[in-house]
Amino acid sequence: MFTRVCLVHYHEIGLKGKNRYVFENQLKDNLKFVLQDYPVSEVIRISGHLRVRVDEPSYLNEIADLIKQTPGVARVSLAWLTDRVVDEFNQAAALAMKSMEPVHSFKVHAKRSNTNFDISSMELNQLVGAYLCEKFPDKKVQMKNPDVEVVVMVNQGSGYIFAESYPGVGGLPVGSAGKVVSLLSSGIDSPVASYKMLKRGAVVVPIHFSGRPQTSDASEFLVKDIAEKLNKQTGGIGRLYIVPFGEYQREIALKVDPDLRIIMYRRLMFLVANNIAELEKAKALVTGESLGQVASQTLENIMAVDEMSELPVFRPLIGSDKLEIIEVAQKVGTFEISSQDAPDCCTLFMPRNPQTHANLKIVHEQWSTLPIEDYVKEIMDKLEYIQFDSPVYKVGKIK
Ligand code: ATP
Ligand code: MG
Repeated sequence: MFTRVCLVHYHEIGLKGKNRYVFENQLKDNLKFVLQDYPVSEVIRISGHLRVRVDEPSYLNEIADLIKQTPGVARVSLAWLTDRVVDEFNQAAALAMKSMEPVHSFKVHAKRSNTNFDISSMELNQLVGAYLCEKFPDKKVQMKNPDVEVVVMVNQGSGYIFAESYPGVGGLPVGSAGKVVSLLSSGIDSPVASYKMLKRGAVVVPIHFSGRPQTSDASEFLVKDIAEKLNKQTGGIGRLYIVPFGEYQREIALKVDPDLRIIMYRRLMFLVANNIAELEKAKALVTGESLGQVASQTLENIMAVDEMSELPVFRPLIGSDKLEIIEVAQKVGTFEISSQDAPDCCTLFMPRNPQTHANLKIVHEQWSTLPIEDYVKEIMDKLEYIQFDSPVYKVGKIK
């Protein structure tokens, strides 16, 4: 019988003019990574699409699901690969129709892409349409809103026949938009923020500040699961940094006003993140803040923390409501992990009444009493990380 393939369509790549070739190759490599444990014998470029050859048809749907989730994929179609022979188009079209039952109405949509095939699209519509009418006398041809559209695509080498087609996540292939470091907690928000950057094509290097040794390492396991989950879908996370932060929080808690503790922790986190970004040659920081969501996420507090970063700080969720964020977390699969409870540095030495409108002058005064350079140096000397398999990550300077 015919070989089954997934045809991968993309939008934005098409807009990128000269870069198109680079983007297509990136998406191809990323798909190979995402599908590495599946019976897929090739991922190749064919006129305007990528073609994924599925060796075991029973995996077709699972493979299509993984392709759909891959950043850069606009649409995936489950096709039959045929020779350029009308009789094969007909047979595959009948299979496509059967796979969509119950069907009452259909139409055939033939497309030819830069080919010398000598039958026109119009004629193909008629030929395949006539065959299907004869084969399925109970179904009628309907041009407007048919139950099923059977696509017959002919290019230079082959025919592709499909009726089943799904939208993908869109975005850009990971690896096509540079590298960022992302402050990743085990909460619901920051995994979604990281995901959004991955979806726009960035390689994301997460940094987790653990409450260790003052807390257990439970949050580290959750964050590792989150990073793994995001990496499986995108291939865009090469390394997760873990910073044991409990000791520094304890020191800061002893030295500054209780209401300013969180701001001070965050300022130190941003400094460390900038240092790691330098090692990683990353060009921006990412956080999961959403305006006004909690006390620390007011404009004044964001300002009091932002000034510690030389790099731009991206907050992809700044205008999102919690429910919207949860919806994405559920889709991406991080929600379940984030819903588990683990003490991390967020729960450590928290004041009862955190400052909601930090006064910069007071922040600066208290900040200047802390031996910040020593903290940063110690932290950078003790950096820990977990490495992930990734088709796009290039190793940072620390080995
Ligand atoms: P999240 O759901 O991402 O934990 P949150 O709603 O709990 O966010 P905050 O505690 O104010 O909000 O944290 C704001 C942002 O600071 C987080 O989205 C994350 O980017 C960063 N952050 C907070 N705690 C940590 C941590 N332990 N390690 C790394 N980044 C953190
Ligand atoms: Mg949190």
